[in-house]
Amino acid sequence: MKILVLNCGSSSLKYQLFNAEDESVLAKGLVERIGIEGSKLTHKPTGKDNLVIEQPMKDHEIAVKLVLDALMDDNAGVISDVSEIVAVGHRVVHGGQHYSDSIIVDEEAKKVIKECFDFAPLHNPANLIGVEACEAAMPGVPNVAVFDTAFHGTMPAKAYMYAVPREYYEKYGVRRYGFHGTSHSFVSKKTIEVAGLDKDNSKVVVCHLGNGASISAVVNGKCIDTSMGLTPLEGIIMGTRSGDVDPGVIEFIAGKENKDIRGMIAMLNKESGVYGLSGGISSDFRDLKAAMDNGDEKAIETIEAYTYKVAKYIGSYVAAMNGVDAIVFTAGVGENSPYIRTMICEYLGYLGIKLDEEANAKAMGEEMIITTADSKVKVCTIPTNEELAIVRETVALIK
Ligand code: AMP
Repeated sequence: MKILVLNCGSSSLKYQLFNAEDESVLAKGLVERIGIEGSKLTHKPTGKDNLVIEQPMKDHEIAVKLVLDALMDDNAGVISDVSEIVAVGHRVVHGGQHYSDSIIVDEEAKKVIKECFDFAPLHNPANLIGVEACEAAMPGVPNVAVFDTAFHGTMPAKAYMYAVPREYYEKYGVRRYGFHGTSHSFVSKKTIEVAGLDKDNSKVVVCHLGNGASISAVVNGKCIDTSMGLTPLEGIIMGTRSGDVDPGVIEFIAGKENKDIRGMIAMLNKESGVYGLSGGISSDFRDLKAAMDNGDEKAIETIEAYTYKVAKYIGSYVAAMNGVDAIVFTAGVGENSPYIRTMICEYLGYLGIKLDEEANAKAMGEEMIITTADSKVKVCTIPTNEELAIVRETVALIK
């Protein structure tokens, strides 16, 4: 059973074709610059030579057709007929308040995805275009929407309501939604397995630390709180996003620098985070580590602020859950940066956490427990795999 996973951006399309039986990846690829000059498809079949196609691609429908052609190519192909694809799983960023689960896309679901355009103006329109392109190219093949927000749909009102006039929630749905839900779901489930916890009696903090970053509190497999909000701007410090700031800062800087609200939000999304705080060294933690190792004061202060903030969020979620059984690090930084994990865990001694420094140093992009046997709370590293999570959701729905 072959499942295609699509992640559509406004001018891009990432895909992976899975064999659902053994969860192996048959091929993956990327289409860039859809609708603009220089469109390019890079197709990477497992165990075969890559195929690169450069030709005008005016829209996602053409891009999907070319992806299907690449998947069936004489040399770089991995299937012989499009009918081998039994379903397509789509990453859809925002499902609003309507969905706390994945869904087979029908007209009603499309309406909801459209209603959420305002919440995710860069992503949801592209996600819907991806669904419609697949409907056109593969009539009758089910499309499954796996929402980034869905896993957080179990949060109670006390976690998702903002203390602003209630009318904005009632009129516009202004509330915390959270993102990276597919990753938080996948990683929290894996953690329960790896740490040997009882799913129905478990308290897990998931630290998804990548370029975008968020933390969630998961009780008995269900999310009860998460750090991103109405948009992915809230929460911990990220690559280029500020995370939490006093909203008064926005008015203050806007006044001094003569910026409007759009300019301010762009600054908070694109020029802030570790990039902005370090004075522009980099948004990439590898560069920051190199600068820190060279004694760069701004890099040191940035990493200290970053790890301090993560530790504070973990502490607040331990309070929210009245305890914790496991803390897990995932995504680019979380999976690959032992020094970041050490710096965060140094704040958590009060929980009886004892890091196994040797295991921590070794854990790079693999499933590992990085605490000693007598640590009161288990700390793990688990590689996230959002595409595989989408395949599992898709298979579960079409069965
Ligand atoms: P993600 O958004 O999950 O792809 O994470 C991207 C970030 O992870 C990059 O900006 C890097 O800062 C960090 N990263 C990725 N690989 C490594 C690595 N091997 N060592 C340290 N940091 C890494």
